[in-house]
Amino acid sequence: MMDHNHNGDFKLPPEIKFTKLFINGQFVDSVSGKRMESVDPRSGQVIAEVAEGDEADIDLAVKAAREAFDHGKWPRMSGFERGRVMMKFADLVEENIEELAALDSLDGGKLLSSGKIVDLPHCIHILRYYAGAADKIHGETLKLAGEYQGYTLQEPIGVVGHIIPWNYPSTMFFLKVSPALAAGCTMVVKPAEQTPLSALFYAHLANKAGIPDGVINVVNGFGHTAGAALSSHMDVDKISFTGSTETGRRVMEAAAKSNLKSVSLELGGKSPLIIFDDADLDMAVALARVAIFYNKGEICVAGSRVYVQEGIYDEFVKKAAESAQTWKVGDPFDPTVQQGPQVDKAQFDKVLSYIELGKKEGATLLTGGKPCGDTGYYIQPTIFTDVKEDMKIAQDEIFGPVMSLMKFKTIEEAIDKANGTRYGLAAGIVTKDLNIANRVSRSVRAGTIWINCYFAFDPGCPFGGFKMSGFGRDLGMHAINKYMQVKSVVTPLHSSPW
Ligand code: NAD
Repeated sequence: MMDHNHNGDFKLPPEIKFTKLFINGQFVDSVSGKRMESVDPRSGQVIAEVAEGDEADIDLAVKAAREAFDHGKWPRMSGFERGRVMMKFADLVEENIEELAALDSLDGGKLLSSGKIVDLPHCIHILRYYAGAADKIHGETLKLAGEYQGYTLQEPIGVVGHIIPWNYPSTMFFLKVSPALAAGCTMVVKPAEQTPLSALFYAHLANKAGIPDGVINVVNGFGHTAGAALSSHMDVDKISFTGSTETGRRVMEAAAKSNLKSVSLELGGKSPLIIFDDADLDMAVALARVAIFYNKGEICVAGSRVYVQEGIYDEFVKKAAESAQTWKVGDPFDPTVQQGPQVDKAQFDKVLSYIELGKKEGATLLTGGKPCGDTGYYIQPTIFTDVKEDMKIAQDEIFGPVMSLMKFKTIEEAIDKANGTRYGLAAGIVTKDLNIANRVSRSVRAGTIWINCYFAFDPGCPFGGFKMSGFGRDLGMHAINKYMQVKSVVTPLHSSPW
């Protein structure tokens, strides 16, 4: 247990202040009275019980969002006014940055150091980006054939259901909520059952900032109950989903079988990092290490397949093993630690079972492969070599600290191999040769390509998948379009011919 004081009024681990559902501007118990446990992945101990919502609570939250959309102020305010309130919300998040980052560390095992200096500042940046965008949403004027003229209105799509995963509880919240707020939508957020805490704090801050009741509702609960109820609800106009490809398919089915609501899906990945012979070897090793081990590999864009050109392959393997062995695994509240525990027992078991599978499939375990310590869900940074394209460890998303290292000879081979999975979320290229970088970046079918960098996110840079990694884009002005619909208004140029 750590107990040092931060900013005079906040101690680690943080106090859990909000454990109810947030519906129509109030913290309320679930209709059923049920509560679910949130677990500290450092120890497997229960740290809180939070209200567990299901269909009845989702229905109440959707009703509140519907009322706020159909008759409330938020969609009718000017974009400028919405932006001002969102800026205030961002200021409040900034004032509580350490406590919020600590909540994600507590129930998600995420590094507090990264939360404070990377994740939370990124969340605030996203919120401010969309606050600034709220008054820059415009339609078009249309010169029509015949004696008519027209214009388009960009109107908010309505009530949005955001279903989010546990690996980035805060970032996912703001990635979804911010553009939807800017567009003038109202919403119900269903956080992941593993990480229910920070979203409730955000709901409280949104309320304090002056976001009207019913505009943001937060209903914690399980996927097959609360999540399923949201995606099949007849009064939800859109679902914005981030999670696994398997669940994305269920969400889309539910949307199709209910009211044909609009759906966008940000799904899984098996992203390649391609390292060419001319790369600076030490830089490439450092990049590959971060690309897979950062956030304990629980990142949809993790560089889990590393392709190294044959000229530097042997040297790369040696250095990659050394570098994995010096990557420090431990308590996410310790500022010197680089990797915390996997989010829960299920993920811990899943990653270890893939490591066993990799050995059975005939890959060579270069380093790692075991749990770290006796308590909590810690796993050693793990690297496999001699991985073949058709092995499951090269095809499936493991979502843990497991790198598959593979060799290639030519650019064509690298492109084919990079494209050789059902996913297409991101890819990395390491080379000094501009021609290679240009060619590969245009040939790899993925939503984001990082050249000589990795995880370079920005609120202005659209993010999303090709192939079975989903469709629709988060971030950038593209994301606002997901939450709008276009209305065409047409009028005769002269007196009405009718
Ligand atoms: P998951 O699909 O199990 O859960 C995601 C969310 O969906 C959770 O809130 C869950 O409760 C809910 N859910 C589960 N079943 C549901 C159902 N039947 N109907 C409606 N909702 C349901 O995914 P996860 O394990 O929480 O997250 C890991 C996955 O998320 C990985 O595949 C990862 O790649 C993906 N992910 C993708 C991105 C991206 O932007 N592409 C970002 C982060 C994570």
